[in-house]
Amino acid sequence: MKNMKKILAAVLAIAVLCTTAIAFAGCGGSDTDKSSATDSTTESKADDTAANGELHMATNAFFEPYEYYEGDKIVGIDAEIADAICQKLGYKLVIDDMDFDSIITAVQSGKADFGMAGMTVTEERKQAIDFTDTYTNAIQVIIVKEGEDKVKGADDLKTATIGVQMGTTGDIYVSDFEADGAKIERFNKGADAVLALSQGKVDAVVIDNQPAKAFVAQNEGLAILEEPFENEEYAICVAKGSDLTEKINGALKELKEDGTIDSIIKKYIKED
Ligand code: GLN
Repeated sequence: MKNMKKILAAVLAIAVLCTTAIAFAGCGGSDTDKSSATDSTTESKADDTAANGELHMATNAFFEPYEYYEGDKIVGIDAEIADAICQKLGYKLVIDDMDFDSIITAVQSGKADFGMAGMTVTEERKQAIDFTDTYTNAIQVIIVKEGEDKVKGADDLKTATIGVQMGTTGDIYVSDFEADGAKIERFNKGADAVLALSQGKVDAVVIDNQPAKAFVAQNEGLAILEEPFENEEYAICVAKGSDLTEKINGALKELKEDGTIDSIIKKYIKED
């Protein structure tokens, strides 16, 4: 305990010193870091973190193949693209795992510099945060239990119990069906919605196509309906007005042009 107090005091002292140092000359970091750290006109997290050379990415790491754990490491398409972007911009990537529903708030409040989580661009989200250019497409699909015929297409969802991941576009789309009599069960993780389906607690799960494939591969007795539900595009979200949008877009453009994005996606998604 005594040691803890000492460590805490030391950390506090360093923090105070650094804050003072930033006020006068910038605290550590490279030349480019300093210029943004001392730029008092913008106050986004990106400018703060520039001082220590890190960019924090908010994600929900239960969304294979975009972000998921391999041991205690978060891997996947988003994790690799984010890393490539950070390398181009000269930052170290730090991934913060949280509920999908908390990502936009984390970015808005500056707790994270950007959010990348197979996140679909929607008009409603654009009111709260800015999106970069898109980097890939996705489709919302319906997963059902093999052999059950309650839900054979999107129309049947109107009278079904549907499992979704809270705050996702799947949740938003099926919420429209509540007026028709659909019952929506909202889960923190897609995997929990899929478990509820396996246990017969919901009739269908609406979720993005690639994670759906991963869930069906990992859980016996489930199938994806052929009828696609909604087409979407994924992008990275940043705080409103942040200069990170332009920086990330620059890096994304280069990574698209030199084939990096394609090869990362191909590494994780094998065409069937
Ligand atoms: N693409 C969906 C959305 O943006 C789901 C994302 C996710 O669950 N990670 O809402």
